[in-house]
Amino acid sequence: MIQIPRGTQDILPGESYKWQIIEDQLREIATNYNYHELRTPIFEATELFERGVGGSTDIVNKEMYTFEDKGGRSMTLRPEGTAPIARSYIENKMQHDVNQPIKVFYKEPMFRYERRQKGRYRQFVQFGVEAIGAENPLIDVEVLSMLMHIYQSFGLKNLKLYINSIGDHDSRKAYNDALVEHFKPRIDEFCSDCQNRIDTNPMRILDCKKDRDHELIQNAPVIYNFLNDESKAYFETVKEKLTEIGIDYEVDYNLVRGLDYYTHTAFELMSNAEGFGAITTLCGGGRYNGLLELLDGPKETGIGFGMSIERLLLALEAEGIKLDKPKGIDLYVCTLDDQSFNKAGTLLHELRTKGISADMDYKQRKLKAQMKDADRKRAQYVIVLGEQEFESGRVELKNMENGETQNVQIDELVKYLED
Ligand code: ATP
Ligand code: MG
Repeated sequence: MIQIPRGTQDILPGESYKWQIIEDQLREIATNYNYHELRTPIFEATELFERGVGGSTDIVNKEMYTFEDKGGRSMTLRPEGTAPIARSYIENKMQHDVNQPIKVFYKEPMFRYERRQKGRYRQFVQFGVEAIGAENPLIDVEVLSMLMHIYQSFGLKNLKLYINSIGDHDSRKAYNDALVEHFKPRIDEFCSDCQNRIDTNPMRILDCKKDRDHELIQNAPVIYNFLNDESKAYFETVKEKLTEIGIDYEVDYNLVRGLDYYTHTAFELMSNAEGFGAITTLCGGGRYNGLLELLDGPKETGIGFGMSIERLLLALEAEGIKLDKPKGIDLYVCTLDDQSFNKAGTLLHELRTKGISADMDYKQRKLKAQMKDADRKRAQYVIVLGEQEFESGRVELKNMENGETQNVQIDELVKYLED
C-alpha cells in the first residue's frame, strides 16, 4: 500500500471546515488592516533562498526540498514566505506603486525537510504578512497588533508575546563582534552548527537548541547594551505604543530569530497553554532592513510575520476551543420506489440551482436508513417522495429540529425553503 509522505497530512472532509473557518478569518482580519493577498509560485530558484534566507540558517542548510528541473535549473519548494514576496516586490517594481507601504499577506503551503515531531510538518500552511516600504515603529506596532488580534479572535488566552530589538546594521555589527570575543575562546565546547555560526552569524548561537543551557549562553553579552541611540529610540517607541494599545509583551534579549536579515524589532508569540507539547512557538517575525538590497532590489525595508495554521490548531486544541461545525444541508429527499427515485434527481437539480443545499440517497436504502442518513447529514428538513406525492403534487415537509410537519406543494418547495 502506498502511504502518505512522512510529515504530511490529509485534511479529511470532516476536518476541512476548521481550515476553512481559520482561513476565512485570517483573510478577513488581514483585509481589515488593509493587507492584500500576494500569491507566489510553490517553487522558486534555489538561489533565492540561499541568498534571501541565508546560508547560516537551518532552512538553507538542512531543510530545503531542492531538485533539478528538466532544464537543469536548481529549484526549491518554497520553505518560507518572505524571500518570495521580496522577489516579487523587486520584480514587479513595487517601490513605484502609488500605494505605500506595500502591505501584503500570503497563505501558502511551505516545505521543509524536518524531523517529524508534534507541531512540525514537512508540508505545512503558513499565513504571513509583510509591510514593505516604510521604516517606522508604528508599522511594527500595526503588524504586532494584527498578530495579537488574530490569535485573540479565536478566543485564545494563554498567549505570550516576546519582543526584542536587534538594532540597525551598526548596532548589530558591534554586538556580533562582542559575541565573537565572548564565545571564540571556548567555541569547541559547542555543537558543530555553533562552530560554524561563530564565523557566519554569531547571534544565532543564542538561538541554538542544543547548547541553550551552556553557561556562556546564559551570561552572553546583552544586545540592548550595544544598540546605538537611534536603535534604542526605535525600540522604545515600539514598546510605548504597544503599551498604549494594551498589548502585553515581555522583552527577551536572547530572541534573535533564525533568519539572517532581521534588524530592529524581532518577536515571537508563544502559547503557555498546558498540554501543548514541546514546541510552543505559534508565530515569529521581525523587521528586515537589508533583505531587498541583498536580492539586488531597492533600498526599502520591511516587517512581517509567519505563522502556521497547524500550530494554531494545536493551540486551539490545547485550550479546548472548538470551531463551529458548518450547518448541515437544507433538505434531504427520501424516496420510496424507482419512480420517485428517478424524479428526485430532477427536483434536487432545481433546488440546488436555486441555492438550496439538498441531497438524497443514491443507494436506494430502506426508508429508515434514509432517515438516519438525513440525520447524519444534519438536514434541516426532510421530505418523503412516493407515488402518492407525485399524484397529489404535495409533500409533507418535516422540520427535523422540532418534528413539525407542513403540507406544501412540491412546486413551492423552493419558495418555502428560501423563507
Ligand atoms: P522552529 O524554531 O519551531 O523551527 P522556525 O524558526 O523554523 O521555528 P519560522 O521559520 O519563523 O520558524 O516560521 C514561522 C512559523 O511557522 C513558526 O512560528 C511556526 O508557527 C511555523 N512553522 C515553522 N516550521 C514549521 C513546521 N515544520 N511545521 C509546522 N509549522 C511550522
Ligand atoms: Mg525551524
